Amino acid sequence: MRPGRSEEKRTEGQTAAPEEKKAGCPYKKKCGGCVYSGMEYPEQLKRKEQAVKKLLSGKGIVHPITGAEQPLYYRNKVTASFGFRNGKLIAGVYEKNSHRVVNIDHCLIQDERADRIIHVIRDLCVSFKIKAFDEDSGFGLLRHVMVRTARKTGQVMVILVTASPMFPGSRNFVKALREKCPEITTVIQNINSLRTSMVLGNREKVLFGKGYIEDELCGLRFRISSGSFYQVNPEQTEKLYEKAIELAGLTGKELVLDAYCGVGTIGMIASRDAREVIGVELNADAVKDAEANAKTNGIGNIGFYANDAGAFLEDLSEEGVKPDVVLMDPPRTGSTPEFIKSVCGAKPKRVVYVSCNPETLARDVDVFRRYNYRMEEAWPFDNFPLTEHVETVALLKPVNG
Ligand code: SAH
Repeated sequence: MRPGRSEEKRTEGQTAAPEEKKAGCPYKKKCGGCVYSGMEYPEQLKRKEQAVKKLLSGKGIVHPITGAEQPLYYRNKVTASFGFRNGKLIAGVYEKNSHRVVNIDHCLIQDERADRIIHVIRDLCVSFKIKAFDEDSGFGLLRHVMVRTARKTGQVMVILVTASPMFPGSRNFVKALREKCPEITTVIQNINSLRTSMVLGNREKVLFGKGYIEDELCGLRFRISSGSFYQVNPEQTEKLYEKAIELAGLTGKELVLDAYCGVGTIGMIASRDAREVIGVELNADAVKDAEANAKTNGIGNIGFYANDAGAFLEDLSEEGVKPDVVLMDPPRTGSTPEFIKSVCGAKPKRVVYVSCNPETLARDVDVFRRYNYRMEEAWPFDNFPLTEHVETVALLKPVNG
């Protein structure tokens, strides 16, 4: 059943409305995303904290978890896959471990604007006779719809992922969509003709608006393109980034490396307290966003490079450039022994590791240990209520530093 929303002021880590406390999702089994749906929020927090402690408390201090004030409807990026069931167009998620689409009418963690936009698109596809792409036969056009929302600015991006570049009637389709959902600020057609589980392809056309959205985080403005990484829960991310910057212990004199920097968020926040920041990121579009973001925010002491973090750091050390502080925020798979070896070779006084997977964090902390860097403390943050995921920020220092 759809829970009610409460306007009451909530204390950190708690939901106020009793009906939301145990928000249960009817799609839980098939979708597989919200394994903690139906569980009281304090219990979810306890379990996540325990999971991080189990992995990390033998390595350093693990502080209590920071819970979310809004444990529902927080995700700012929503992807719906399209399919056909019993002659009807459906939109939702792939059933766990399959490519069978489960129709989702209401999701407990997604931004509610995104839910509505996806339903409108599903209905418009019927009237415009747009068929869902069928992976087996290769027929049909629409594969996925991604909706990205910016909480602070209210901007909304819709990405229509199609199997081919031909999208007959796209103009009228976008016009009808905007009439029904005037909150949309940009619409992109992304073309993904490959047999792949990746949602986005490499080519895209802007059908309406600027082709990106802008959000604000920690007092700075960030432009986000369709394929650029951006944290999905901005309220919790602000707390996480503040802790990361605090742990970096900057005094204004440091050269800081922001590795796996995405659109430049952490590095730009750090730049206010550092001498200079270098950001490195594999995704060239995200680097373009990062460069534009530095300009928009009038930040002159930061530069970005599109490269593999490990290869880039090796180049840096060959040139004798040694960062004083390293901020790193790798994907779920964690970092690499090569990158960690190069980091330690540069002898930074602090390494702040932001992680969305405590298992790979624990593994990487052990690699750091080989090079005499020790995890002093770790702070878990619940950026993903109802799911089993957790973010952690850890501080590492040289053992005799
Ligand atoms: N720090 C950013 C992004 C973190 S997500 C933020 O907080 O928003 C991890 C980022 O690492 C992604 O942007 C991804 O594109 C990038 N990435 C993945 N593998 C990489 C590699 N080998 N070298 C550099 N960046 C990489």
